[in-house]
Amino acid sequence: MKAHDAIYIDGAWRPAAGQDVIEVVDPAEERVIATVPAGTALDIDTAVRAARAALPGWAATPPAERAARLTALRDSLEARKDEIAETVTAELGSPLPFSQAVHAAVPVAVAGSYAELAASYSFEEKVGNSTVLLEPVGVVGAITPWNYPLHQVVAKVAPALAAGCTIVLKPAEDTPLVAQLFAEAVHDAGVPAGVFNLVTGLGPVAGQALAEHPGVDLVSFTGSTAVGRQIGAVAGAAVKKVALELGGKSANVILPGADLARAVAVGVANVMSNSGQTCSAWTRMLVHREQYDEAVSLAATAAAKYTDRIGPLVSDKQRRRVRAYIEQGITEGARLVAGGPDYPRERGYWVSPTVFADVTPEMTIAQEEIFGPVLTILRYEDEEDALRIANGTVYGLAGAVWAADEAEAVAFARRMETGQVDINGGRFNPRAPFGGYKQSGIGRELGAHGLAEYLQTKSLQF
Ligand code: NAP
Ligand code: MG
Repeated sequence: MKAHDAIYIDGAWRPAAGQDVIEVVDPAEERVIATVPAGTALDIDTAVRAARAALPGWAATPPAERAARLTALRDSLEARKDEIAETVTAELGSPLPFSQAVHAAVPVAVAGSYAELAASYSFEEKVGNSTVLLEPVGVVGAITPWNYPLHQVVAKVAPALAAGCTIVLKPAEDTPLVAQLFAEAVHDAGVPAGVFNLVTGLGPVAGQALAEHPGVDLVSFTGSTAVGRQIGAVAGAAVKKVALELGGKSANVILPGADLARAVAVGVANVMSNSGQTCSAWTRMLVHREQYDEAVSLAATAAAKYTDRIGPLVSDKQRRRVRAYIEQGITEGARLVAGGPDYPRERGYWVSPTVFADVTPEMTIAQEEIFGPVLTILRYEDEEDALRIANGTVYGLAGAVWAADEAEAVAFARRMETGQVDINGGRFNPRAPFGGYKQSGIGRELGAHGLAEYLQTKSLQF
């Protein structure tokens, strides 16, 4: 069933309580491609009640059976991968090959990893004279952003299902269509009614109602620091668990002796990927002063090649925000070596791949998350200086270190205040814990650490 005009509650598509809709816009064409219900507090309440009612049954379902549903979900996502990729391209604007390789494929891998974990995880452990039961936290309110719209949904829903939790999802207003596809996949996977529920809607309406609902035990949020702070405050007041995956301003540290050409090429690719709309993007490149000019020229040349490769930003709002940051960089005295604030196309929310040189650590563009295809290149004097700069923001989500040998890179990475570091171009690992130090967030997603977020302990003494 195609159900753009419905919300998914208690195993069925049904109309929202109100008549309001959200228009979904294709950012490449600036054209409305669909409308979805703008759910309200009433819909959230219905969904949370359904999730609460389904909780005892799902929590008591043997992990092997939960694993079987997750395997079916993984297979259902895989079977729909072309439709998923086309949908993400339509509502987010990412080029189709990227949608296939990342937006569609990574969620299949993550769902698969939780199918395996649900089957193999030990939901009981012995500590001396105690048996510790690892029980589901309860009803999860999941609030997700638009930048990796299916990945961010699966990174919450799959571990929650594995843990025995039930879920209400409020996806981003800009990318609700892939969330609807996901709900269809969950349904087809035979997940019992009420275990997963989807309410599309606006953040300050449906999202806030979900975060505040007393029937929600854990709020898992990915998005901006500003909204994350509010959700953390609401959850704190209600003594509710909260997981926050927020922004980043990650450092790509190129130590002297590293393969400069490769480090710069991979670094630029990392920032331009998904048009810079990646929370873990290495948006600050740190280069030793003796290699600085060469790195800048390599980066400027590399960035220019992305002009026809990257997609538009998700919305006009994001495009205006990114342009304002580029203008601020120029005002603060950074040197533009590629791209700039002008919009490169008449139609579609594109921003040119942009590189700033002569960026100093205190500049706004070196401190704040821009969320666009904008790279800043900073100069350092020695390793201690590089470390100070790398750790010198409120964020700590990801990063990279390049060095002549791995041990040197690892020694530097140990001193970085961040949740992930790629060593000499290490690959993304969908089972490695992902999440932030400092203001990049609270909690971890993916793999066994991600599963643990959805569990609470009960100790039985003998
Ligand atoms: P956002 O507003 O934080 O959106 C994230 C999610 O939270 C969306 O589902 C949103 O709904 C919802 N939301 C918004 N206000 C809420 C509220 N008061 N209570 C509960 N839920 C609420 O992020 P954005 O406006 O889309 O993007 C702004 C900036 O955030 C970006 O430029 C970027 O810097 C950062 N960001 C970071 C990530 C990340 O992965 N860490 C992802 C996206 C954005 P709506 O869709 O209706 O707003
Ligand atoms: Mg918003």
